[in-house]
Amino acid sequence: MKRILVTGGAGFIGSHLCERLLKEGNEVICLDNYFTGSKKNIVQLLENPFFELVRHDVTMPYFIEVDEIYNLACPASPVHYQYNPIKTIKTSVMGAINMLGLAKRVKAKILQASTSEIYGDPEMHPQPERYWGNVNPIGPRSCYDEGKRCAETLFMDYHMQNDVKIKVVRIFNTYGPNMNPDDGRVVSNFIVQALKGEDLTIFGNGNQTRSFQYVDDLVEGMIRMMGTSNDFIGPVNLGNQNEFTMLELAENTIDLTGSSSGLIFKELPKDDPKQRKPDTSLAKSRLDGWEPEIELREGLIKTIAYFDKILKSDKQEKVL
Ligand code: NAD
Ligand code: UDP
Repeated sequence: MKRILVTGGAGFIGSHLCERLLKEGNEVICLDNYFTGSKKNIVQLLENPFFELVRHDVTMPYFIEVDEIYNLACPASPVHYQYNPIKTIKTSVMGAINMLGLAKRVKAKILQASTSEIYGDPEMHPQPERYWGNVNPIGPRSCYDEGKRCAETLFMDYHMQNDVKIKVVRIFNTYGPNMNPDDGRVVSNFIVQALKGEDLTIFGNGNQTRSFQYVDDLVEGMIRMMGTSNDFIGPVNLGNQNEFTMLELAENTIDLTGSSSGLIFKELPKDDPKQRKPDTSLAKSRLDGWEPEIELREGLIKTIAYFDKILKSDKQEKVL
């Protein structure tokens, strides 16, 4: 049995990761400051004696004996990471320093949840890991993009200078149950709007693309990455290669919810990447043939069922 720390464990991806690590017979410590995460995401784990929940902010040091650390703490939706940009960059940079310091002291293996955002508005398509990116260092997305880029640098430097056993995964747009209905990212926005019969908000003309990965595929890739031999440190892309425009995503969402919603066009946010699609050949070759298995419509069906349930229970709570 390994003892594993998951920072940001009460968030969308972290909650799925905690559940999976417990199922595999590990002891899990979930650390979160609840900025965008929620106890509701992990309430079903609280009765498990091998699960511990700690309210803590990764910008402050934390001391514990663990074998592995998954560092996920950081708001991921543009709406939330732009709410307090200084805090966002502190979370990425000081959080990385604190967690790397911990890994160094207790000789734990540590995995960083990096992001496709480090490629910025990419000029190379699809994006392989060797691409250095096209990031505006002073724009509204910089606190997140540059924070995550600096975290990658810190991971590499702690590895080279102090022999810390690191793993870096670059996560592409991921969706699924446990996303916050107010998260602000496109999949949750569209599903919630469709279920409420509201118009779906398309930013720009809707021809920009993203490649959407279902959360279970990502968690499988992260766990495989942590399990690889110490000489493979990444970075490695984890994402689904099927690329969609936002208009196509909206059409699929309306179709699968059976909604009568229409579309409403809003201004495209500044520095919004025009296209994004991972080159996942490295993940496939180094992570035991890893490939996403859940395609968009199948993943949307599961996610729609989740939001349908929570929207209905919210309504019921309001009536009571
Ligand atoms: P999320 O917002 O649901 O989860 C982030 C969690 O971190 C939340 O529980 C939040 O409360 C917690 N947190 C934030 N700041 C903290 C701090 N200072 N101290 C402690 N906890 C803090 O987002 P998510 O989609 O689950 O993302 C998880 C990680 O994966 C993030 O690091 C994100 O950058 C990365 N990622 C996600 C995606 C995606 O598409 N979902 C893509 C690329 C990278
Ligand atoms: N988007 C949209 N409507 C929304 C929310 C987002 O059209 O209600 C667009 C957004 O402009 C971007 C894409 O959807 O082009 C993905 O946005 P998201 O915030 O989910 O992720 P990111 O931009 O970080 O990849």
